[in-house]
Amino acid sequence: MKTPFVSEKQLEDICKEYPTPFHLYDEKGIRENARKLKQAFSWNPGFKEFFAVKATPNPTILRILKQEGCGTDCASKAELLMSEKCGFDGKDIMFSSNDTPEEEFKLAAKLGATINLDDITHIDFVKNALGSMPKRMSCRFNPGGKFAIANTIMDNPGDAKYGMTRPQMTEAYQRLKELGVEEFGMHAFLASNTVTNDYYPTLAGILFRTAVELKQETGAHITFINLSGGVGIPYTPDKEPNDILAIGEGVRKAYEEILVPAGMGDVAIYTELGRFMLAPYGHLVTRAIHEKHTHKEYIGVDACAVNLMRPAMYGAYHHITVMGKENAPADHIYDITGSLCENNDKFAIDRKLPKIDIGDLLVIHDTGAHGYSMGYNYNGKLKSAEILLRENGSTVMIRRAETPEDYFATLEEYWDVDL
Ligand SMILES: *Cc1c(COP(=O)(O)O)cnc(C)c1O
Repeated sequence: MKTPFVSEKQLEDICKEYPTPFHLYDEKGIRENARKLKQAFSWNPGFKEFFAVKATPNPTILRILKQEGCGTDCASKAELLMSEKCGFDGKDIMFSSNDTPEEEFKLAAKLGATINLDDITHIDFVKNALGSMPKRMSCRFNPGGKFAIANTIMDNPGDAKYGMTRPQMTEAYQRLKELGVEEFGMHAFLASNTVTNDYYPTLAGILFRTAVELKQETGAHITFINLSGGVGIPYTPDKEPNDILAIGEGVRKAYEEILVPAGMGDVAIYTELGRFMLAPYGHLVTRAIHEKHTHKEYIGVDACAVNLMRPAMYGAYHHITVMGKENAPADHIYDITGSLCENNDKFAIDRKLPKIDIGDLLVIHDTGAHGYSMGYNYNGKLKSAEILLRENGSTVMIRRAETPEDYFATLEEYWDVDL
């Protein structure tokens, strides 16, 4: 059973101040979860979470996470600039991008961010762009093949565009050493949205063994290993959430078994989580504005795929609560739709829900990560506001909704192009 982090009464009050649709974030939940992650890795003195900015690129969210000791993980110019504006120090920024333009490497280096190279050819690309190599560099590893654990998670690194092969990792470390790099990091992201406590420990085992080999082969001084993102959340109500304390303990075991005996007991563990940090602590709040009875039963809401793209893009499941009807029987079957001229603009298909009346408030769950951020402007639809629910129950707007003027801003000088 999934319960919203606000009551119906609370939400109706919030809606008096902010028109639907909007994204609502739970500050208390975000902070408590960040503290639990920190606790799970407290055995590792150098541990740090670099929040994947792409998941929820909002300055207030980033500043909350900064207060909880997190850095940021960026993959673009705007994400780097946002981190800088939020006061993240160079070493608090990880730059894990791919297919990277020269200008972005330059900006990352200027900010003092740690650059995580996606490919071996990027070594010379960066050297030529920057004139010299930063002293601290990281390389992204892709072991290829299939990644499977206990038949629960299957992902296909062999098919992923990211990272270097095992032989390339050795070559990259050697080349970087020649170019004066003194501190090395290693990174891999092998499976996404894992709901098992085994993903990080299994990944850690692979990375730790590879790190020991790389140190032996190249003499590189490896100071951190970045387990990246991929720890998931249970989007469907039947799944158990990950136990981050058990995950931290699993990684510690691998660390004690593999790194410590190899004299690498000073390596810092980094994570780059996005979804795990934010997804459960965001709701997309929307109101039923139409009901339609044709070949199926439809409820039209005032949000659409522009506010949350995951269902349209991946057929992703997002749980829906009809506020005030939490205990009513789910005896109706609906498609819950947005207004785009695209038939995939459906937040739910054939979903069993209580009877929905026009004006009902719906909470779409787990939208705190990869929700607002994936938004776009198809059909001239505008992006919604983002609201933060403070720990004391008050609310504050942390991004206003777009207006038509925003939509037209890039056209300002182009209404009268000569024809
Ligand atoms: C997307 C991404 C993350 C975060 O992934 P989640 O699944 O949200 O945890 C971390 N690192 C990199 C390089 C990414 O691309």
